[in-house]
Amino acid sequence: MRTKIIYNTVLGVCRMISVEEALEKVLSYVEVLESERKPILDCLGQVLAEDVYSTIDIPPLDNSAMDGYALRAEDTRGASESSPRYLVVVGEVAAGSMPTKEIKPGTAIRIMTGAPLPEGADAIVRFEDTDEVSRKSSKGDLSHIGILCQAKKGLNVRCRGEDIARGNLILKKGTVLRPQEIGVLASLGHSAALVIRRPIVAILATGDELIGVDQPLAPGQIYDSNTYTIAAEVSRYGGIPKILGIGRDSVQSLTEKIDEGLDADMLITSGGVSKGDYDIVKDVLAEHGEIGFWTVCMKPGKPLAFGVIKKATGRRKRKVPHLGLPGNPVSSMITFEQFARPAILRMMGKKILAKPTIQAIIEDDIANTDGRRLFARVMVTRRGGQYYASLTGPQGSGILTSMAKANGLAIIPESSKGVKAGDMVDVQMLDWGEEQGEVKTLPIVSIVGKSQSGKTVLMEQLIAEFKKRGYKVVALKHSRGGMEIDQPGKDSWRFAQAGSDAVCVSSPDKLAFIKKLDHDLNIEEIMPIVGPEFDLILAEGFRKSKIPKIEVHRKELGDDLLCSLEELSAIVTDGSLDTEIAQLPWGDTVAVADFIEKNFVLNSRSSAF
Ligand code: AMP
Ligand code: MG
Repeated sequence: MRTKIIYNTVLGVCRMISVEEALEKVLSYVEVLESERKPILDCLGQVLAEDVYSTIDIPPLDNSAMDGYALRAEDTRGASESSPRYLVVVGEVAAGSMPTKEIKPGTAIRIMTGAPLPEGADAIVRFEDTDEVSRKSSKGDLSHIGILCQAKKGLNVRCRGEDIARGNLILKKGTVLRPQEIGVLASLGHSAALVIRRPIVAILATGDELIGVDQPLAPGQIYDSNTYTIAAEVSRYGGIPKILGIGRDSVQSLTEKIDEGLDADMLITSGGVSKGDYDIVKDVLAEHGEIGFWTVCMKPGKPLAFGVIKKATGRRKRKVPHLGLPGNPVSSMITFEQFARPAILRMMGKKILAKPTIQAIIEDDIANTDGRRLFARVMVTRRGGQYYASLTGPQGSGILTSMAKANGLAIIPESSKGVKAGDMVDVQMLDWGEEQGEVKTLPIVSIVGKSQSGKTVLMEQLIAEFKKRGYKVVALKHSRGGMEIDQPGKDSWRFAQAGSDAVCVSSPDKLAFIKKLDHDLNIEEIMPIVGPEFDLILAEGFRKSKIPKIEVHRKELGDDLLCSLEELSAIVTDGSLDTEIAQLPWGDTVAVADFIEKNFVLNSRSSAF
């Protein structure tokens, strides 16, 4: 009796609620499930429930990154194709075995990729940079090898622990396991992982007109497709579907079926929630627990039922959340996407629940006549760097094939009367993973205080402390006065001394960014730090990069050029050279600027960026 009262109360406040409000209510009833330890290959897409530390170094030993010869870099000094350095080959080592000999001055060991570096060796020279091939083809003496290039210490050597160092935190609790994380677990020697378990979702179709897909169709019947759409959706998002079959529109049939589903973590029904016939579902569910019928401000998919079914299992009472989706195949799928999908992801411990949304130009007019949020089935294409969305056909809520043609749902807000072709719309991307929309955000915190309060000292200490914990740190300094960067004693210099990986100084009129590098950057690596507000990048140097180049040539320095002619777009010269390439007079800056403007600015698609 009591449950009926609860039900009536809920029904009493039945009103039109927003999509967000409905989702919030659904989510408030679901909890993250318990964790279980299982084989790593069964964990794809699941959330790690423990921090994973490494007990080993990967690679376990210094080893070779190439097939070649292990040697002492010192022994290759001055080596070139025209003047090889000859070494005595004292052995061979393959991946999986340990070297039995060590490298003494003047010797080399033939080594395969992945094989441990022999004692005494500090570099690997690959086969291509030796005379091995010519020796073999001329059936020459293989007890010696000619080295054709000078090697630096560490060349082609993979250092012990360079990927993973023993004792480090490798995967954090909460990580979603993708194939690469499963590979990392395997590389650590883990055959199983502790993950949040997958929810079991019971699925029940309702309706006297429905028939199973393996039965012949009688007049008035239709095949039950919702069971399959929903079960496939449940699997796609990581749950385990438990198919209950078809419940008839009678109290007895529904009661029996629902009972079968109560050991699941969630029950999803379809049909029987529209005004015409919801009395039966209402009666059955109200008997078992609480249920509310909502009118959600969306189209398709207005009627939705939600509640919890109470089930006594021994002494414990379990509450099974129940989502009653509308029967129309498209409505049931779209409401699944908006409400059941996030609920399943929450139960699996996932943090990112929203489907990625992009902005696209709509290619059809769409009217929104009744002030609800319209989810229109669209096919999104990308043309010339821009997304376009076009309707996939008739939008009736029973027309599943227009859903099958769609890869997105264009969202027309409830406040809008519609859109015209050419307008921008938000499109929810049905086939994109939730994580796809997430861009890594950098945490930021600022240390503030009065002058002389010790901000800089604390900054230095924190930088050192976070470096100790393995973080890469950027120190950002706001400087109201001048821009003294990298000068001994100044704050930016002190931050760099304290170990900061990058220092950024921002003043009211200038910005400087100094980042420690471990190699000379190429143009592609530099571009991302240049903002989009500029019109032209004038570089000096970068001779080896593939960007367009103009060489300055001065008579007094000789007639030869630094670059080969194919690499150059023009030559600025105070003489005249015998070439086909455009020559611009030294001193006529206007002519050079015109050339650049015409070729690289106004016609900027031809440049590399
Ligand atoms: P209902 O919400 O039960 O009134 O159903 C609305 C419409 O969806 C009716 O035309 C039903 O025949 C159809 N329908 C309901 N359940 C299913 C199902 N499982 N598979 C295909 N169509 C269904
Ligand atoms: Mg029905």
